[in-house]
Amino acid sequence: LERQLQQAMKMEALGTLAGGIAHDLNNALVPVLGLTECVLESLPPGSAERADLEVVIHGAARARDLVRRILAFSRKETPERRPVDVGAAFDSAWELLRHALPPAVAVELRCDPGSQILADPSQLHQVFVNLVTNAAQAIGDRAGTVTVTVTAAGGEVRLSVADTGSGMDEAVRARAFEPFFTTKPVGEGTGLGLAVVHGIVAGHGGRIECRSRPGEGTVFDIHLPAFEAAGLEPVPCDFI
Ligand code: ADP
Repeated sequence: LERQLQQAMKMEALGTLAGGIAHDLNNALVPVLGLTECVLESLPPGSAERADLEVVIHGAARARDLVRRILAFSRKETPERRPVDVGAAFDSAWELLRHALPPAVAVELRCDPGSQILADPSQLHQVFVNLVTNAAQAIGDRAGTVTVTVTAAGGEVRLSVADTGSGMDEAVRARAFEPFFTTKPVGEGTGLGLAVVHGIVAGHGGRIECRSRPGEGTVFDIHLPAFEAAGLEPVPCDFI
């Protein structure tokens, strides 16, 4: 429990820090974008200066979008709660995810129908992305399989993401959910993926377990309270 508390505090501190930086950066970017766009309008179409300035604006706009995403991450918004079919939500996320995975990674999906929970669809999406990305990275260039199963039983919906990748030894497994803990090279891993997943699952009243063996692979099992309301249609999740 103490570790969970420590983890929550670290995430809170990170959110505050990131939010503060993002806020200042956003303020700094507003005049850059505003003024460059003004100058752009005064330049003749087709001129070299105009083309240069367009590159500047494009870069600044990308920075602004990034900053907005960090702000959204750090903001203490109450998460949405609506009936979501976990299997259907995964299918929808998968449409986006599959393009990002190396071709040697095979994915097997087994989804029970009627696996409804009350959830924030975009947070659920984040869970899928983080777990599947980690699984694919653990397989790397080798051939391997990621198996995703969604089952509903006993008032619970279980989401399991298993891979046949490198696995983790006990020391890594024990720290895997810690914010900033990563075994990946600088620039590739932030060590935040599983910390975020853990926070989201806990926020949904669920729990997450991890089993892993070096050289054999890893399984993440998430248990979430099922939502069983007669006559209520789940809202389709469209992440695209
Ligand atoms: P990151 O992926 O940025 O390193 P995470 O919090 O997602 O951060 O993961 C922390 C660490 O846990 C990873 O660096 C890796 O060592 C280990 N890990 C996570 N998922 C897997 C997996 N599916 N297989 C093997 N190791 C994993």
